[in-house]
Amino acid sequence: MRKIIVAGNWKMNHTYSEATTFVKSLLANVKNVDDSKVEMLIAPTSIYLTELLALSKDSNLLIGSQDVSSHNNGAFTGEISAEMLKSISVDFSIIGHSERRSYHNESNEMINTKLKKLIEQGIRPIVCIGETLEQREANVTKQVIIEQLKGCFLDIDLSNNQAIVIAYEPVWAIGTGKTASPEQAEEVHSIIRNWIKDNYSMETAEQIHILYGGSVKPANIAELLAQPNIDGGLIGGASLKVDSYKEMVNIAEKL
Ligand code: PEP
Repeated sequence: MRKIIVAGNWKMNHTYSEATTFVKSLLANVKNVDDSKVEMLIAPTSIYLTELLALSKDSNLLIGSQDVSSHNNGAFTGEISAEMLKSISVDFSIIGHSERRSYHNESNEMINTKLKKLIEQGIRPIVCIGETLEQREANVTKQVIIEQLKGCFLDIDLSNNQAIVIAYEPVWAIGTGKTASPEQAEEVHSIIRNWIKDNYSMETAEQIHILYGGSVKPANIAELLAQPNIDGGLIGGASLKVDSYKEMVNIAEKL
C-alpha cells in the first residue's frame, strides 16, 4: 500500500518570518498525523532550508529543495549542488519542474544528470513531467510523457531506486486554477505506471509514487486522490497557507 504524499512547492514565496511561522504552526497541529498513511513535504526557497530542517527535526514533516545543480561543484554562480544539500541533510529535491524547464531551458537530458547527482547523494528526487496545452490539444500527450520518462530516467534502474517520486504536472494546469479532471489525470498516471511496469517490473510499478500537480486545493484533492494511480499531490498555491495545507493533509489521512 503506497502512502499518500502531500508535497508543497513554495516556489519564490514567503519571507523568512512567514516561512518559520508556517512551519511552527503546522508542527503544532499535525503531531497526530499518521505518517504511515500520509507524508508531509515542503520545499521552501533554499536559503531557509537549514532553519526549517532544524525546526522540523524529529517531526513527521520533511523539508526539501526546489532544484539542484547538474554540476558537482566549481564556478557555477548561484547554483547549489547535491553534495551541499546532503551536507545539511535535506530530505528530498524537486527536479524538472515546468517553470525550470520553460524559464531556464532545462531539458530531459539535464534533468537526468540532476537525477543522477541526487541518487549519488542519497537524496530522494521528485521528478516532474507533463505536457503543455498545445501538446494536449495536438493529441500527443502520451508521446510527450513517454519521451520525458525515457529522457529523465535514461540509465536509471528504477527497481533499485524505488524512493524516486514522479510528479505528473500538466503545464496548462499549473498556477492557472485549471485542474485536470480526475479522469484526465488518472489516464496519464496509468500511462506512467504501465511504462514503469513494462520497463522495470510490476513490483517496481506498484512501489513508485506518482503525484499529480496542477491547481490542487482542499476542494479537489479528495477526488484526485480517489483515483487508483494518484498517490498524492505536488501543490503550489494551496500549500502557501498553513490552514489549507493542513486541510489537505487531513483529507488525505481520512481516505
Ligand atoms: C506546482 O508548483 O508544481 C503547482 C502545481 O502549482 P499550483 O498548485 O499552484 O498549480
